[in-house]
Amino acid sequence: MKENIIPHDYQISRKDRQSNNQHNSFLIWFTGLSGSGKSTIANVVEQKLFEKGIKTYTLDGDNIRKGINCDLTFAPEDRKENIRRIAEISNLMIDAGVVTLAAFVSPYKKDRLNIKSIVKDDNFVEIYVNTSVEECERRDTKGLYKKARAGEIKNMTGISAPYEAPENPDVEIKTEGVSVEDAANKIVEYILPKLKLLSNE
Ligand code: ADP
Repeated sequence: MKENIIPHDYQISRKDRQSNNQHNSFLIWFTGLSGSGKSTIANVVEQKLFEKGIKTYTLDGDNIRKGINCDLTFAPEDRKENIRRIAEISNLMIDAGVVTLAAFVSPYKKDRLNIKSIVKDDNFVEIYVNTSVEECERRDTKGLYKKARAGEIKNMTGISAPYEAPENPDVEIKTEGVSVEDAANKIVEYILPKLKLLSNE
């Protein structure tokens, strides 16, 4: 099947869209335990970028797991497929010239490496939202830890499924020692230079 898919040569390229937008497009990937603060921080980062006139979009469990990935469970194979599809969607968004934020637990190192290989290294910014499982369980924003302890949820990352922490994230946020505002500022500071188009582009 694949050999019969011949790409059409479109006249408007990723570079054209980026130059129209006056900024680069790439993926900002937030990884960390459930309740660690990924969506909270991503939301503030997006607002800060939006205010600067940057084209943005945020992918998260709500708009992905309830829609395109509603057929997937939390078993390792399905988690892998979940991440693969999100990476492919992110790649299209990057192509469309949009700075894409993605907030997903994404507990497996090899799945995160797979994202990187799909969108390419230069387009991937990894943010490790590092909050201890004890603190996440104390917050228990969605009541998932309580359910996991009661055995109602299987494969709960941090409780009954592993979380493989990134070794070299681009930015690490230890939320137990920093405010949401400071965390978002640290991330924006990191990505501002990446937004700049090279003068010959
Ligand atoms: P995730 O998206 O990682 O599952 P959420 O962002 O939904 O996590 O929930 C994180 C919770 O922790 C929110 O209720 C947020 O207000 C709270 N929180 C407390 N301190 C921080 C902090 N420094 N950074 C991020 N979130 C924090």
